[in-house]
Amino acid sequence: MFDVSRTLTARRVRWEFLARALNISSSPLRSVFAQSHADSRGFDSRTCTRTAPRSVYKEQDVPARPDVQVDIYERLPVPFGLVRFGVAPDHPEVKNVINTFTQTAKQSRCSFYGNVNVGKDIQMEELRQAYHAVVLDYGVPGEHLAGVYSAKDFVGWYNGLPSCRQLNPDLSCDTAVILGQGNVALDVARILLAPVQMLKRVLVVGRRGPLQVACTIKELREMVNLPGTKPDMVVEDFDSIAEALKDVPRPRKRLTELLLKTALDPPGEKEQQRRNAAHRSWAFRFYRSPVEVLPDASGTRTAALRLAVNRLEGAGEGARAVLTGEEEVVPCGLVISSIGYKSLPIDPAVPFDPSKAIVPNTMGRVTDAAGLYVSGWLKTGPTGVIATTMNSSFDTARSLLEDMSSGAVDVSTQRPGSSSVRALLDERGIQPVTFCDWEKIDLVETQRGEAVGKPREKIQTVEEMLQVAHT
Ligand SMILES: Cc1cc2nc3c(=O)[nH]c(=O)nc-3n(C[C@H](O)[C@H](O)[C@H](O)COP(=O)(O)OP(=O)(O)OC[C@H]3O[C@@H](n4cnc5c(N)ncnc54)[C@H](O)[C@@H]3O)c2cc1C
Repeated sequence: MFDVSRTLTARRVRWEFLARALNISSSPLRSVFAQSHADSRGFDSRTCTRTAPRSVYKEQDVPARPDVQVDIYERLPVPFGLVRFGVAPDHPEVKNVINTFTQTAKQSRCSFYGNVNVGKDIQMEELRQAYHAVVLDYGVPGEHLAGVYSAKDFVGWYNGLPSCRQLNPDLSCDTAVILGQGNVALDVARILLAPVQMLKRVLVVGRRGPLQVACTIKELREMVNLPGTKPDMVVEDFDSIAEALKDVPRPRKRLTELLLKTALDPPGEKEQQRRNAAHRSWAFRFYRSPVEVLPDASGTRTAALRLAVNRLEGAGEGARAVLTGEEEVVPCGLVISSIGYKSLPIDPAVPFDPSKAIVPNTMGRVTDAAGLYVSGWLKTGPTGVIATTMNSSFDTARSLLEDMSSGAVDVSTQRPGSSSVRALLDERGIQPVTFCDWEKIDLVETQRGEAVGKPREKIQTVEEMLQVAHT
C-alpha cells in the first residue's frame, strides 16, 4: 500500500535536491512527468545535496519525497535544451551546469526518454492517464519571428541544433544589424564580431532608449571589453539620460552608467590604445523600429534596412516608442531579429494564453487543470537566466509536493508511468533515447571534439544522433 504519511518523513533537505528529485530544474526540464509509486527506494541525501554550485543555487529547505519517480520526455535525442542549443559557445562556464543536470538524470528514480515529441508521438491525455502528475516545460519550440534570420535560428545554427543546420547564413558582408537589445542580441553580436568572421560592424537596434535596454550588466561589460572591437555610439542618443538616472532603481542605474561611460567618456590611455588597434566596431542604435529589408540589385541579397525613427512617450520601463515620421536607411548585409522567444501551444487540451505565450498558472499549477503543472519559460514567458528559471521551477516543485501531501493530487492508486507510455511509443515505432544512449552520443561528440582541439564537435542531425544512440 502506498502510504503518503510514511514516505513524507520529517527529513528535510536543501531545495536543490528537491529540484533533482522532481527534476524540476531549469534545463533538463522538458516535459516532466512525476509518478508517485509505492516501492519507496529511499535516497542518499549526501550525494543529492552536494552537487549544486552554491554560487548558482541559493539554499532553501523543502521537504523531500523519496517516493517520487520522475520521467523526462524530450523531443530531441539529446538533453539540456537551451543550455546546449542557446547558451553561447563562448560561455562554457554557463554550460557547465550540464554536469549538475547529469547527476540528477543518473539518479535511479529519474529516467530520460529523448526522441519523444509530446503532442505528436504521445498525447497529453495519454500522459495524464499514465502519471499522477504532469509538469510541462517545453520552452520555446519553433517560433520564427520576423526578420531575415531569427536569432532563434541563428543561435541554433551556431550551436549545432539539427533543425538549423541548413541555415548557412551568409556572413560575407561588412555590417550586420541585430534587432533587439537583450542578452541574446549581445550573444549574437559577440559571435558575429569574433575574429573568424569577415564582419566589420554590428549595430544593435532598439525601439526605445538607453534607459530601456533589456540586457544585463554582465553581458554589456563583456561587449564593452570584447577584444578587437570598439564601441561607436551616437552621442545625441544619450541626451538627458544622466539627469534621469536619479529616479531609476539601482540595477538599471548601474547598467545605464556603464552605457554612458562607454558612449560619452573620453577613454583612458590604455583603452584608447585598445580602441585604436580595433578593426571591428559595435554600437547600440536607439529609437529605431525596422520597416523594411531592402534587397540588392539582383533582388536576392540583403542590401540595407529601412528604419523608422521613434521618440518616447512616458518615462522609465513603461515608456512607449512613438513614430516620428522620419526614416533612415542603414546599409547592411545581414539582419537578425532578436525581439524575443515565444512558447507555443502543443496540445489543444492544455490551456494556453496567446497574449503572454504562457500556460496560465498559479505558482506552477495550471489553471483549471488538476494534476497538471508548468515550469520554465513556458510558465514565466521567455525571460530569465538559468538561475532565475531554476528558482521559479522549484516553486512549481513545491506546489506539486504540497498537492501530493494535501490530496489535491491523488496518489492513492498506482499509475503505470513509463511502462504504458513506452508500450504506446513502441506501437507507433518510436524508439526513445535513454540517458545511457545519450552518453554514447556525448562520448562520440567529445572524442570528435578532442581530435580538432574543441571541447565537443556536436552531431548535427537527428538521424546520426539516433544511429549513435542505438548502436
Ligand atoms: C540564446 C540564449 C542564450 C542564453 N544564454 C544564457 C546564459 O548565458 N546564461 C544563462 O544563465 N541563461 C541563458 N539563457 C537562458 C536559459 O537558457 C533559460 O533560462 C533556460 O534554458 C530556460 O529553460 P526551459 O526549461 O524553460 O527551456 P529549454 O531550455 O528550451 O528546455 C525546453 C526543452 O523542451 C524540449 N521540447 C520542446 N518541445 C517539446 C515537445 N513537444 N515534446 C518534448 N520536448 C519538447 C526542447 O527540445 C528543450 O530541450 C539563454 C537563452 C537563450 C535563448
